[in-house]
Amino acid sequence: MSTLSIRDLHVSVVTEAGSKEILRGIDLDIDSNSTHAIMGPNGSGKSTLAYALAGHPKYEITQGSVTIDEENLVDMSADERARAGLFLAMQYPVEVPGVTVTNFLRSAKTAIDGEAPKLRTWTKELSEAMKQLRVDPEFASRNVNEGFSGGEKKRHEILQMELLKPRFAILDETDSGLDVDALRIVSEGVNRARENTDVGVLLITHYTRILRYIKPDHVHVLVKGKVAEEGGPELAQRLEDEGYDRFLTQTA
Ligand code: ADP
Ligand code: MG
Ligand code: MG
Repeated sequence: MSTLSIRDLHVSVVTEAGSKEILRGIDLDIDSNSTHAIMGPNGSGKSTLAYALAGHPKYEITQGSVTIDEENLVDMSADERARAGLFLAMQYPVEVPGVTVTNFLRSAKTAIDGEAPKLRTWTKELSEAMKQLRVDPEFASRNVNEGFSGGEKKRHEILQMELLKPRFAILDETDSGLDVDALRIVSEGVNRARENTDVGVLLITHYTRILRYIKPDHVHVLVKGKVAEEGGPELAQRLEDEGYDRFLTQTA
């Protein structure tokens, strides 16, 4: 088992107007066999946390540390972090002209493992994963993200996660824009990965909807760049009933 440790993490977003602190001291420990939900109102810094962990250049870690089993990620590039076992679903949201889903997945796998996967097992694994996610076989020969619907983008993200087998997967708003059927299929994919591999999941969401399908072990509520409350699955239920009002009326 591995542990992703976040200590006193401060993150500023860098814009043309200057730099603004968004995360103001986050502490989290995620074991590679557990699922944590990060919840919170809009604008609380959830996506900032995802981007900062993945090494997005606009999100600067100004203080604190991020480690996987003592290995420090903060000074690593996004690619190095991926090789260290971190996976961010929306890492490649852009269209990749002329690169098919098949080729994209195979080069990502090769980059992460340091060697190309064996063609026969790989082809089998890919078609099996696509079948499970109810993805049309034709999907594999389409160019990455080109004309993908919301649901196809999400399925592509989960397909990446299932094939790349990261130690830690950060899934930001995986439920947004999905109808109930697609939500179920995507959730099943995440649950399969949880059963079949040793993967820690950081599930970032504003809504409690996806937590009916993917049961978190721990729930953290992010408010104004800080963890305002932590608990077990019962906290998600309470948020479903009450919303975030009680957090928003508090002064920071
Ligand atoms: P959440 O995902 O919880 O809705 P975000 O992390 O997206 O919140 O945003 C937190 C705060 O940081 C917001 O006030 C948002 O406007 C600001 N922010 C995030 N990313 C950027 C950016 N690239 N440029 C400017 N402001 C940003
Ligand atoms: Mg601090
Ligand atoms: Mg967000």
